[in-house]
Amino acid sequence: MVWDDFAINNLAIYLLDKPNKDRKVALFVKGCDSRGVVRMLQDNQIKRENIYLIGIPCPGLKDPKTAARGYYKDAGSVPEAKKCEECRHPNPVLYDEILGTPVEEPQEKDRFAEVNELEKKSVDERYAYWTAQADKCLRCFACRNVCPACSCPDCMFDCTKPRWLDKEVSTEQNQFFHMIRVWHVADRCIECGECERVCPAGLPLMQLNRKLIKDINELFGPFEAGLDLEQRPPLTHYETGDPEELM
Ligand code: SF4
Ligand code: SF4
Ligand code: SF4
Repeated sequence: MVWDDFAINNLAIYLLDKPNKDRKVALFVKGCDSRGVVRMLQDNQIKRENIYLIGIPCPGLKDPKTAARGYYKDAGSVPEAKKCEECRHPNPVLYDEILGTPVEEPQEKDRFAEVNELEKKSVDERYAYWTAQADKCLRCFACRNVCPACSCPDCMFDCTKPRWLDKEVSTEQNQFFHMIRVWHVADRCIECGECERVCPAGLPLMQLNRKLIKDINELFGPFEAGLDLEQRPPLTHYETGDPEELM
């Protein structure tokens, strides 16, 4: 095993591999990995007694893709990944043992700053912006495959009866894919940034994710997925006083 400045992948997703579901496994968890584990436990996708979590406080990591694309004299000069610059919870939130001491949690960051800027645009401008983004999508599903919140054993996009998505990669079909994807993770996205990091076409997927997270926060109150095993996500349970506006 190698654990270095580039160990950035969210490892929680590997718990969903079928062989790992049926046996006891140990997993090293940074802040983002541990939040992914919490989400999967809340979805009953994994069993707590089957996993042993070794927590690692995270100093912020680097993206191997950035290193491969740039001209850096050594690994130390590769900049911190965008998702780590934006990270609010680098310390594991769930673990059986922890290696090292917790790192300082970052100062409060405005995670909705980019969404706020987009919301200043007119409806037509926003439509044009997201249409251009959808046009770039290759529908490779990498964003879905790395996502610890996108954990259905049988994804609707793989279904053939009915077939929800044409094989053709078109603007309309891509828009449909992204609307469904973002809604399926709406109150479950742990903001790990993996979807955006792995996208080969450079789609700003965190803007889309955070737009829904922002709306949920405004309607249901402050919420961050994957922080607390006991806190139920707002859209996965019903209360009589729930606001209707989100629909
Ligand atoms: S998102 Fe946070 S916890 Fe995850 S790798 Fe980056 S700094 Fe570490
Ligand atoms: S990773 Fe990027 S290109 Fe691939 S399906 Fe997702 S948004 Fe589209
Ligand atoms: S939607 Fe993206 S940021 Fe949210 S949990 Fe999935 S991979 Fe992480």
